[in-house]
Amino acid sequence: MDTCDTPACQSAREIFRELEDYYDEHNLYFQTIGSVLQAADLLDVDHPVKLILSQPKNEIMVHCPVQMDDGTWHLIKGYRVQHNNVLGPYKGGIRFHPEIKLDEVKSLALLMTMKCALARLPFGGAKGALKIDPRALSKKEQERVTRRLTAALGGNIGPDYDIPAPDMGTNAQTMAWMADTYINFAESSKKVTARGVVTGKPLEFGGSAGREKATGQGLVYVLDALLPGMNLALPDLSFSLIGYGNVGSWTGRLLQLRGSKMKAVMDHTGAIADDAGIDAEKLAGHVAKHGGVKGYPEAEAIDEATFYSTPVDLFIPAALEQMVDLEHAERIQCKVLVEAANAPTTPQAERHLMDKGVEVLPAILCNTGGVTVSYFEWKQNRQSETWDAELVDERLQEVMHRTAKRVLEMAARLDCNMRIASFAAAIEHIAKVYGMRGVFP
Ligand code: NAD
Repeated sequence: MDTCDTPACQSAREIFRELEDYYDEHNLYFQTIGSVLQAADLLDVDHPVKLILSQPKNEIMVHCPVQMDDGTWHLIKGYRVQHNNVLGPYKGGIRFHPEIKLDEVKSLALLMTMKCALARLPFGGAKGALKIDPRALSKKEQERVTRRLTAALGGNIGPDYDIPAPDMGTNAQTMAWMADTYINFAESSKKVTARGVVTGKPLEFGGSAGREKATGQGLVYVLDALLPGMNLALPDLSFSLIGYGNVGSWTGRLLQLRGSKMKAVMDHTGAIADDAGIDAEKLAGHVAKHGGVKGYPEAEAIDEATFYSTPVDLFIPAALEQMVDLEHAERIQCKVLVEAANAPTTPQAERHLMDKGVEVLPAILCNTGGVTVSYFEWKQNRQSETWDAELVDERLQEVMHRTAKRVLEMAARLDCNMRIASFAAAIEHIAKVYGMRGVFP
C-alpha cells in the first residue's frame, strides 16, 4: 500500500495512474521521477512534457552469449535505456555490475537527461548496463563481453545517435574496445568519425585530456561556487568518501590538493579512518594494487557504523545508488552531503538530513563534470582537434560555475531545496525546447 504523501510521491502517483501503469514509492525510478515531476509542477510545465518524461523513449534489452576462458558459455543480460533526446543525441555511461536491474538503469538514464539539460549540453539522456561482475572476469573475458555487447547494440548506438561512456565497472579500456568494435562495423566513409561513438576513451585513441578526473574536478568547481554561500571554504575542510574508484579517488586527490583533509573512506572491501588525515595519493596507489581500501597500512580499520558516524564537514558518497538510507543518515555528522554518485541518498534520508540542518547538494549538479568533459571529447573528435589539459579545465570550470549559479537562482526563485531547483532548472529548458519544436505528429 502507498503511504507516502510528499509532493514528489503525489505528482508521480498521479501521472502513473493516468498512464495506467504500476507505481511503487519504494522503487528508485519512481522516487527519481517523483522529484522531477514535483519540480515540473512548481514551474507549471505543460502536461504532455511531464507525460513524455515519465517514461524512457526506448528500453533495449539484449542477451549476449559469451565463452569464458575455461570453455563454458554464459548468457549475459545487457540494457540500454534511452530516456529522452529532445536536446540532442542520447548520452550516458555503461555500467558493469552483477546486481543491476532495469529500473535502476531507467533512473540513471532519466538523471542523464536532467544532467545534460541542467548544464545546457546538446545531449539527451541514456544509460546502459551489463549484468556481470567485471572483477570476476579475466581481461580477455572482459574484452569479449564488451565487444559482444557493442555488436548486440548495433545501430542503437552511434556518434550522432547514442554515445556511451564509462561508469561503474567500466573504464577507458572498455571504451577503446567498444569504439574499435563499432568502427569495424562502420561504413568506410564513416570510420574516421565513428570513434565518437563513445567518450572516455584513452588519450591516444581520441580521448580528451582531463576526462579521467573530470567528475571529481567538476565537483570541486561546484564546491568552489557554492561553499562560500554556506559560510564554508575549501582549504581546511574535512571530508569522508564512500567509494574510492574513479570518482571517489579523484575527488579525494583533488580536495587534498586544495588543502582539505580526508578523514575516512569506505569501499566494497572495508572502511578506514585517520583523524589526522589519510593521504589520498598513497591510498589511490594502494587501491590500484590491492583492489580496495582494506589493508591500507597507514590508517585504522573501522566498521561501517563508525565510518558513517565520523564527524566531517563534507560527506561524499561516490559509490552505488541508495547507500545513504535513513539509518545511515541518523549517524552522519556533516555540514554538507555532496552527492558524487548518482542517486546515493534515499528520500527519507534526505528529509532527515535536511531536518538536522545538513545541506544536500544533488548529483545532477555535483557530478556533471564527467559528461561535460565527455561533451568536450565528442566535440574534439568531430572537429579533429586536441585540446590541452588547461583548456579543458578552464572550460569545465566555466560550465560548472554557470550551472551552480543557475541552480542557486532557481532555488531562490522557487524557494525550494537544491535538488528540486536542479531538476527545475533542467526541466524548464527541456519544456522550452518542446514548446519550440512541438510534439510530433
Ligand atoms: P568505479 O567502478 O570506478 O568505483 C566504484 C566504487 O564504489 C569502488 O571504490 C567500489 O569499491 C565502491 N563500491 C561498490 N560497491 C560498494 C559497496 N557496497 N559499499 C561501498 N563501496 C562500494 O565507479 P565510478 O565511475 O567511480 O562511479 C561511482 C559513482 O559515480 C556511480 O554512481 C556512477 O554512476 C557515478 N558517476 C560516475 C561518473 C564517471 O565519470 N565515472 C560520472 C558521473 C557519475
